[in-house]
Amino acid sequence: MVLLGSTGSIGVNALIIAKRFGIMVEALVAGKNIALLNEQIKEHHPKYVAISDAKDRELVNHPNVFVGREGILELLQKTQSFLVVNALVGFVGLAPSIETLRLGKRLALANKESLVVAGHLLDTSRITPIDSEHFGLWYLLGTRPVKGMTITASGGAFRDTPLEQLPHMSFQDALKHPNWSMGSKITIDSATMTNKLFELLEAKWLFGCEKLDAIIEPKSIIHAFVDFKDGSTTAHLAVADMKLPIAFALLGEVEEPILPSIDLASIGSFSFQPIEAARYPIWEIKEDVLAHPTRGVVINAANEVGIAKFFNQEINILELAQRTIKAYRYFENAIPKTLDEVFEIDKEVRHYALR
Ligand code: NDP
Repeated sequence: MVLLGSTGSIGVNALIIAKRFGIMVEALVAGKNIALLNEQIKEHHPKYVAISDAKDRELVNHPNVFVGREGILELLQKTQSFLVVNALVGFVGLAPSIETLRLGKRLALANKESLVVAGHLLDTSRITPIDSEHFGLWYLLGTRPVKGMTITASGGAFRDTPLEQLPHMSFQDALKHPNWSMGSKITIDSATMTNKLFELLEAKWLFGCEKLDAIIEPKSIIHAFVDFKDGSTTAHLAVADMKLPIAFALLGEVEEPILPSIDLASIGSFSFQPIEAARYPIWEIKEDVLAHPTRGVVINAANEVGIAKFFNQEINILELAQRTIKAYRYFENAIPKTLDEVFEIDKEVRHYALR
């Protein structure tokens, strides 16, 4: 396989699964964590490697190093593997997703931003999502007619924070996720609930379901529900650990234990809470976004700029969502019909959001 984002949270777990099941790693792509990349090179012997910055090239212990965004595309063109795991974070993952599909390869996709910004323009029949909720939905689906789907949210770092304290919460506070250990961008997106909005869009493109919703399940053990037309509802439960969806995405089918089973008696009870716009302002636009899912690129671009501003202490976490909503309303007519338009709109929205 080819692994993009090997030094990240998903990337590291993907290498654990690859090692356990003897999957050859043909190429590794990382950003700036060259120390970890060098360890991975030593262990997995990839034929090709790519990094983000030319200045780090000399530090990489490998003869075939590609550099930058173009470098990732060149690397993909050289590789022979049928499977590409895209675990890059943010909009930077889109071009490699497009190239993977253009080359006729299969895409195991953790980079949900690819689907958020261009789900209607990508061939989802060749995409396997690496996301616990979508894995749960896929696991539950059979041949019976479906009425609706619900995915769960943990509520993120500020689920129980008094509302009046939210404007004073820092970037570091937002990184304290109650249940999952993940990269920083998705952890911030969990605190604002933007991650769940993205996952609803992801579900829309992957499963084509009209009735989609999300609910808070604070233990992050139930990941998804499917309502069937007959009145039955089924739920997917598993320990909060990405190795399970990753194993299925890499192997297709899995019969060996990946995670310990759930012990219902020790869990005791489950509770659920609605997602409220007072705590998660992005939820105000949820219905509108689901009715206009091709506008995901606007939300993503404004959100990425907003996260950088929140990191730099220029705005607080509520303003982050409010600015995204403002951009979403301002760019009402920005509906990309081609992949080129996705890149153009992304640029325009970033320009607007920076001002
Ligand atoms: P991380 O931040 O932990 O990892 C991101 C990876 O991408 C790192 O290897 C990083 O390299 C690399 N990277 C970033 N920018 C570039 C660049 N310009 N060029 C090359 N490499 C780059 O993120 P996660 O693993 O948490 O998330 C990855 C994706 O998976 C996201 O889209 C996220 O939403 C999704 N996802 C994550 C889950 C999780 O549990 N973590 C669950 C479900 C989905 P480096 O660190 O070396 O700079």
